[in-house]
Amino acid sequence: MGLSSSLAFCGLSPPPWPVSKAPEEVVPMLARCYRSRSRAERLVHPASMRTAVVAANVAVAREQAYSAQSIKLMGLRPTVERQEMADIIDGKAFAAGLRERIGRQVKTLETEHGLTPGLAVVLVGEDPASQVYVRNKGRQTTEAGMHSWEHRLDASTTEAELLRLVEQLNEDPQVNGILVQLPLPQQIDAERVLDAIDPDKDVDGFHTVNVGRLWTGLPGLIPCTPLGCSMLLRDRLGDLSGKHAVAVGRSNIVGKPMSALLLRENATVEIAHSRTTDLAGEVGRADIVIAAVGRPRMIAGDWLKPGATVIDVGINRIEGDDGKTRLVGDVDFDSASEVAGAITPVPGGVGPMTIACLLNNTVAATCLQNGVDIPDA
Ligand code: NDP
Repeated sequence: MGLSSSLAFCGLSPPPWPVSKAPEEVVPMLARCYRSRSRAERLVHPASMRTAVVAANVAVAREQAYSAQSIKLMGLRPTVERQEMADIIDGKAFAAGLRERIGRQVKTLETEHGLTPGLAVVLVGEDPASQVYVRNKGRQTTEAGMHSWEHRLDASTTEAELLRLVEQLNEDPQVNGILVQLPLPQQIDAERVLDAIDPDKDVDGFHTVNVGRLWTGLPGLIPCTPLGCSMLLRDRLGDLSGKHAVAVGRSNIVGKPMSALLLRENATVEIAHSRTTDLAGEVGRADIVIAAVGRPRMIAGDWLKPGATVIDVGINRIEGDDGKTRLVGDVDFDSASEVAGAITPVPGGVGPMTIACLLNNTVAATCLQNGVDIPDA
């Protein structure tokens, strides 16, 4: 079977140029398909002309909205040139370094100012995941040399009771950071509780005052997960000026504050969500992709621009073929790491950064409340 008929058999259009065409004439077409001239030039090396034709058709098919799955079923994926694997962004190691730095800052605050930062965490109810988070937060706070208090309240706690506790913590000078673990039971209005926390003690950065400070460029406390993503990005890419960033997800916890941080770093920012048409196309134009969707492995490798930096915030527990459960992100790690320049794994990427940034915010809040500079470390 000739090339054209095998493509037709697979349901793909014939090559958009005669196979006999000179390789250099094909480059602009491929560059458009792959949005990368250097990749196009590598593909049309005369020895891989046939591969180039098929690869271009795959790209065209992709643009025509064939799903990744049908391209795989067509058996065409292997014909696309093999990529070098993406660098792994090791959030676990970065977070360990950050915690050490925070430990040194805590010592300096003690020796130079007589201050020991303190974090109070409030847990209402028995949500098993929340219990694990709260335990880890408490352990890491103590390890960094700070005071840690846990307030565990019954699932039947009323909103008024919780608001009274928040008020006490607001007034306690030893408490520099307050975190109310979400989700809260149904009878409690989470927004009312979060807005009752003193904005200068709001180490989660969810208070509307801190949201306003972030979007207007004023100093304030920044939500931990986006702050962690932003640190990883800065470490990997340095200056983000002019980079095209797409945040997939617009939650108040991740997508929106992440977009504000990227904007502050002078990236050109796009926020995608469940109503976005052509999500794959939007992601395909991004130098930086932030995946915060909550859908296991939704973002496929063939959506990505080659060389993109991918930050996978998603934490999804799925059952494997062996019946055991495991954690996966919102990005299909295997296919994405064939196309991306760098990617965070799940677990071991963004996750460990969240608690480290909570400690970071507790130090920042302590300094803010006492009018001292954040120590260098
Ligand atoms: P939310 O459920 O609050 O928000 C999900 C967002 O994804 C929404 O904006 C939603 O759009 C969008 N979305 C849903 N489906 C699609 C779709 N098919 N196409 C495009 N967009 C879609 O989740 P969170 O922001 O709280 O969390 C996102 C993920 O990050 C989760 O997996 C969560 O577990 C994880 N997470 C991890 C943390 C960490 O420490 N690493 C911390 C916080 C969260 P719309 O607004 O239109 O509904």
